[in-house]
Amino acid sequence: MGLIVQKFGGTSVRDRDRIFNVARIVANTRNAGNDVVVVVSAQGDTTDDLIQKAAEITSDPSEREMDMLLNSGEMISISLLAMALMEIGVPAVSLTGWQAGFQTDRAYSKARIKRLECERIESELARNRVVVVAGFQGLNKMEDLTTLGRGGSDTSAVAIAAALHADRCQIFTDVEGVYTADPRKLPNARKLEEITFDEMLELASLGAQVLNNRSVELAKKYNVELEVLSSLNPVPGTLVKEATKAMEGMLIKGVAKDEDVAVVTLVGVPDVPGTSFKVFSLLAQKKINVDIILQSTGRDGNKDLIFTVPRSEAENTRKLLDENVSRFGGSEVEIKTGVAKVSIVGAGMQSHFGVAAKMFEALSENQINIQMISTSEIKISVIIDQKDADRAVNAIHAAFIH
Ligand code: ASP
Ligand code: MG
Repeated sequence: MGLIVQKFGGTSVRDRDRIFNVARIVANTRNAGNDVVVVVSAQGDTTDDLIQKAAEITSDPSEREMDMLLNSGEMISISLLAMALMEIGVPAVSLTGWQAGFQTDRAYSKARIKRLECERIESELARNRVVVVAGFQGLNKMEDLTTLGRGGSDTSAVAIAAALHADRCQIFTDVEGVYTADPRKLPNARKLEEITFDEMLELASLGAQVLNNRSVELAKKYNVELEVLSSLNPVPGTLVKEATKAMEGMLIKGVAKDEDVAVVTLVGVPDVPGTSFKVFSLLAQKKINVDIILQSTGRDGNKDLIFTVPRSEAENTRKLLDENVSRFGGSEVEIKTGVAKVSIVGAGMQSHFGVAAKMFEALSENQINIQMISTSEIKISVIIDQKDADRAVNAIHAAFIH
């Protein structure tokens, strides 16, 4: 007997059959003696379709109206799921994000949760109902609807689990858990039994795309143990938690590829104090997220600054630097897009040597040239040619996982 939060993504509630499939999973959990709060996303590609509809009206929609529009997607799935539950004899009630008590800041389209007041959820649970909550939604101080950013339903689920001190937060998706590499690309990728919050955060930001990054941050902050599992295949998933039992031979938990990257080179900036500060504060002001940074050693009073940005920001970055190049005395801005970032993640590398060498050996054996390298305690990333990226993932995965 416990309290379980179950979150189902868009593919899991895509149509009638999938909705009844979810209803049965929820019913089984309840019949096992648990209280259940369900969080759902909009059906299938609904959110993308709504964005498309807005684009047919205007190229510059009001952010407030955009959030009003996107809130409608999740309302369809909560009401349909509540009906399906009742249809199979499970008492249920649907609640929008604001009815469920999600108060956010005013940042439309990427609102942050400020408070979650769960009285309504609690009173519905006390009436013996399954509570179906719309993910992704919130209400700001002006009582306008907000959304938590793409993939925000994971965050809604974790927030509810934290606030209600749930025994478990299950994130149901269309894969069976977290894998050592993308299982759709690499058939011999292995499903992980467990992974730490920190490893998951690195993998999420590296493009592994199983869990939304903010949800993992929140889970870590409130120590909510997550389970990632399939809504279609009832086998144990992957547990995401603070610490995992040391697993022999599991030095590396995953290999990830991120193609949303561009390399920017600012050629010949003055080799004097304050140059990097000027460049990167300018980028920060424009909210351009910089990842790997290198600088060459100075020669003849000049040096090169080399860094990566998301590919979608490459043109903005070029424009910004071109406009300001005279301020920091750089001579030229070069942007390179045909690149990818390939990374390995594993807390085990903190206590083992030779991990980087092994990764570079795999690349070397495959004649793949490394353009940039960056490391943290639990991650090593390389920038390589995009055309080599899949080969690189295969080779590195084979070196570490098998
Ligand atoms: N429906 C929203 C989206 O597609 C939220 C979510 O799926 O978590 O981004
Ligand atoms: Mg979605």
